[in-house]
Amino acid sequence: MNNNYKSGFISIIGRTNVGKSTLLNTLIGQKISIISNRPQTTRNNIRCIRTTDTSQMVFIDTPGFHKPKSKLSDYMVEVAGESFKEVDLILFLVEEDLNIGKGDEFLLEKLKNEKTPVVLVINKIDKIKKEDILVKIKLYEKYDFIKDIVPISAFKGENIDTLVTIIEKYLPYGPMYFPEDMVTDRSERFVVSELIREKILRSLKEEIPHGTAVEVMQMKKRDNKEIYDIEANIYTERENHKRIIIGKGGNMLKKIGSESRKEIEQMLDCKVNLKLWVKVKDEWRDKPNILNSLGYNKKDEL
Ligand code: GDP
Ligand code: MG
Repeated sequence: MNNNYKSGFISIIGRTNVGKSTLLNTLIGQKISIISNRPQTTRNNIRCIRTTDTSQMVFIDTPGFHKPKSKLSDYMVEVAGESFKEVDLILFLVEEDLNIGKGDEFLLEKLKNEKTPVVLVINKIDKIKKEDILVKIKLYEKYDFIKDIVPISAFKGENIDTLVTIIEKYLPYGPMYFPEDMVTDRSERFVVSELIREKILRSLKEEIPHGTAVEVMQMKKRDNKEIYDIEANIYTERENHKRIIIGKGGNMLKKIGSESRKEIEQMLDCKVNLKLWVKVKDEWRDKPNILNSLGYNKKDEL
C-alpha cells in the first residue's frame, strides 16, 4: 500500500429528510457495507465503507441526533455527541431552503465547540436557482467553525466528486481498516443475528440465553425494494428453554421479535418483516459443524 493512503471516520448529521441516506447511497454505490459497532459504543450507528485506491472512508450514521423532546432522545443526543469524538470529520447536511431553521440552529449550537472539523453540505441544490445557492452559502459564513461549504445534489449526483475531494482533505494518512471487498450480505446477516441474540439476552434470565444461538435462514429484499423479509431460527438446548423463549401465549417471542425488528429496520433503513422460529438443537454448543453454520468460530465466547 502506498504511503499517501488516507483513511478515517466520518459522521453524517442533519435533520430527518435532508438526504443523509441518499447521500450515503450515492457515495457508496454498489459497495455498501453495513456493520455494527462494538458493544460498548452506539449500537444503532451504521457504518458504511467507501474504499477506493486513494482512501477508505468509514461513514457513521447518527440516527438519533435531533432536538431533545424526551428522555430517550436526550440519551440519543448524548450518544451521538460521544460519537463525534471518535471521528475525523463531521459532515453537517442541510437542505436548500433559504433560511436556517430551529433544528439546524440547534445542531449548529451543538457543533460549535467540537474539536472535530465540520464541513457543511448543502443538499438538494437541483431544486433551486444557482443564485440562491450563493444566498444559502452566505447564511453560514458567520459560523467560523465550518471549514468548508459544499453544495450538492445527492439525488442527482451533482458535485459529489468535489465533496469526496474535500472529505479526503480532512482524513489522516492511514491504513485500510476494513477489507476492501467486505461482503454486504454476509455482514448484514451476521449483524441481524447478533441483534436478535442481544434481545434474547436482555429479555431472559441468564442460564437460558447462553444456550442460545440465532441463525438467519433467509434475508431478501422484495422486488419493490420497500421491505425486507427476514426469517431466523433461534436454537436452544432444551425443550423447556424453548417454552420459556416462546413464553405464555407466545408473548416473549413477540417481544423479542418486535424489539429486534425495530432495530433491524433502523439499521437497514427499510421496513422489515421478521419471522422467528424456536428450535431445540441438542448440545449444539459442542458441535463444531453446527457452530460453523451459525457463523461462530469454535473459540468464540457464546
Ligand atoms: P434522511 O432522512 O436524511 O436520511 O433523508 P433521505 O435520504 O431519506 O431523503 C429524504 C427525501 O429527500 C427523499 O425523498 C429523497 O429522495 C429526497 N432527496 C434526497 N437528496 C435529494 C436531492 O439531492 N435532491 C432532491 N430533489 N431530493 C433529494
Ligand atoms: Mg435516513
